[in-house]
Amino acid sequence: MNGSGVRLVLLGKPGAGKGTQAPLLSAHYGVQHLSTGDVFRAAVAQGTPTGLEVKRFLDTGELVPDDIVIRVVDEHFAVGGPLEDGFILDGFPRTLVQAEELEQVLADHPLDLVLNLEVATETILHRIAGRRVCINCGASYHVTARPKVNWTCDVCGGDVVQRDDDTEAAVANRLEVYQRQTVPIIDFYCKLGKLVEVDGVGEGDEVQERLIKEIDGRYQPGRS
Ligand SMILES: [Zn+2]
Repeated sequence: MNGSGVRLVLLGKPGAGKGTQAPLLSAHYGVQHLSTGDVFRAAVAQGTPTGLEVKRFLDTGELVPDDIVIRVVDEHFAVGGPLEDGFILDGFPRTLVQAEELEQVLADHPLDLVLNLEVATETILHRIAGRRVCINCGASYHVTARPKVNWTCDVCGGDVVQRDDDTEAAVANRLEVYQRQTVPIIDFYCKLGKLVEVDGVGEGDEVQERLIKEIDGRYQPGRS
């Protein structure tokens, strides 16, 4: 075994910082970072029957149904060694059905911990609704950290704007959907004794230290 072998799920509201923290944890513990997007893309690229089904949903922009998501994850675990070598799941499970099915898929390689990155809704609204992006190069700004000249990109001179899905209404909607789907998942892992709440407010490296402290305090590497 190369990595630590730890098996983790990272939960958190959209905008809570999972996208920053998951790759850092993956590097720190030497385990695969599996986001649903990556797993979907791999299945599509391999052209497996499940991959083709996934592609149909992605092409039409529809949500991939639970049973197909689970099949993709199951097939992904079957081919490689992430069950033995460890992994961090990001963006999955998204529903209670997926969480329950994941337990079946993992079978005798159960999750070690489920980390819930806790950030208040108000804070997320401020983070995302204040975000402004250069339409030309994608450089990211914030109403509290503006470009030097008006709303002109410091990097390339392009226009800096608010993306449609970053408006307060759009973010509030995403958060509501997340809340509805995730509260049952949090209860589920809480009952299994695997849930750890971690304060997700602060600089990226501060939050990472908190996560690592929680993981190291609860997980013994070298378990069979
Ligand atoms: Zn730019």
